[in-house]
Amino acid sequence: MRVLFLSSEIYPFAKTGGLADVSFSLPKALSELGVHVKSVMPLYKTVDREKFGIVPTGKRVTVSVGAGTFEFEVYRVSNAVTHYFLRNDELFGRDYLYGTPEGDYPDNDVRFGTFCWGVVKLIEEGFFRPDVVHTNDWQTALTPVLIKKRGIGVKTLQTIHNLAYQGIFPKETVERLSLGWELFHMEALEFWGKVNFLKGGIVFSDAVNTVSPTYAREITTPEFGYGLDGVLRKYSYKLFGILNGIDYDVWNPETDPHIYVNYSENTVSRKDDNKRYFLRETGLSDESKPLFIFIGRLAKQKGVDLIIDSIEELSSLPANFAFLGTGDASYNNFFNSIKGKYPNIFVEVAYDEPMSRKMYASADYLLMPSLYEPCGLNQMIAMRYGTLVVARKTGGLADTVRDVEEPGGYGFLFEEFSPQAFLRSVKRAVDFYYEKRSRFLRLRPFVMGIDFSWNASALKYMRLYENLIEGKVK
Ligand code: ADP
Repeated sequence: MRVLFLSSEIYPFAKTGGLADVSFSLPKALSELGVHVKSVMPLYKTVDREKFGIVPTGKRVTVSVGAGTFEFEVYRVSNAVTHYFLRNDELFGRDYLYGTPEGDYPDNDVRFGTFCWGVVKLIEEGFFRPDVVHTNDWQTALTPVLIKKRGIGVKTLQTIHNLAYQGIFPKETVERLSLGWELFHMEALEFWGKVNFLKGGIVFSDAVNTVSPTYAREITTPEFGYGLDGVLRKYSYKLFGILNGIDYDVWNPETDPHIYVNYSENTVSRKDDNKRYFLRETGLSDESKPLFIFIGRLAKQKGVDLIIDSIEELSSLPANFAFLGTGDASYNNFFNSIKGKYPNIFVEVAYDEPMSRKMYASADYLLMPSLYEPCGLNQMIAMRYGTLVVARKTGGLADTVRDVEEPGGYGFLFEEFSPQAFLRSVKRAVDFYYEKRSRFLRLRPFVMGIDFSWNASALKYMRLYENLIEGKVK
């Protein structure tokens, strides 16, 4: 079975979030199952070609649309998966993937739309010969539209990693990308007078999935549907939820070169050594207190407001806190403004993977108070590092964390999106740490042993591809 996997970001070449992690680790897990996967992404200026050994193949493809003529040069590197890159410096030779801190690039429709056109042409020219084209989020979602429009006989799967980002552009995009006005209606690309790439992916793909079973249900409701819940309800017969996994080679406390002391399930008490070093490095004190961490994009989605609204109360708890993240300017400003203000709160406004690894290894608890969460990787990474999770019961968090009050539970969940409910769960975790000491210590190796690898989920994707090829999903 041959799968062409399209994504706008793939770790370690380019990453702004969890999409990059998944776009690296899912194709790798699929290849291990014997699926022939090739991935394709744009060749951004920020991709270090030399470091990764990315070289030209000699193949070029030309896309002529209303906005102009664009030539892409195809590059490649092979490791566990063969990765292809489409190079056009006018479109992708920029400092960022999607936009500057001031806002999105105004020609993102042309940038990602012509990328989709380029891939479709490479399929038509026989350069790629997939059975299934697997697209991810809005950036690659025009591909299934073009495949259907041009009558190409390959199956398509559209994955939604985050429904909040849909790729919505003015109606002129129809002409800029030569999509054809016959596609500009409510049952196709049109969305309130504009063009919606992700809607196109949902309507025209043979199957659609999102990254957890709970989120797959949630997005068919107005609360989580971002205006597409009606479309998703209509197509619910081809909508699936498949939980993401994490790459167990990338995230492994036994081998992680960035953490202070390596450990396994059998030597999990060494987390305390990591904590000691981390406290020393960050100027926090008292290793007998529980250490809570937060790592993530500083965005409304991540529940940052609950942390901000609780900051005084958190600072008075017998616990330490370390926050690592960067994102929206107002949140960055807030966290910069509290730097050094509270003796028990450490703040770093940055994207820093080595630091994040030290934090996963040192912490007692990870905070994940997300407003919504399609799947979430941080909670799985944290548990792989023996860190218990305090999270809001939504999306993939509801599918991966079970509350200690439940039989077999190993985390702390709250439902209501309010600072009060959040603080209550933090306090429960603090009390648990001091008062249920032996159970707390037993849960560390327990969560490390839960299987969050891709084993089960990659198999589910493979079955879905098989069903598509056999015409069982239509
Ligand atoms: P998102 O919604 O941002 O994709 P996920 O939980 O799916 O959230 O994935 C987040 C990924 O990005 C994880 O690998 C996490 O460790 C990483 N990450 C997020 N913010 C930071 C940061 N400031 N520094 C280091 N890593 C980060």
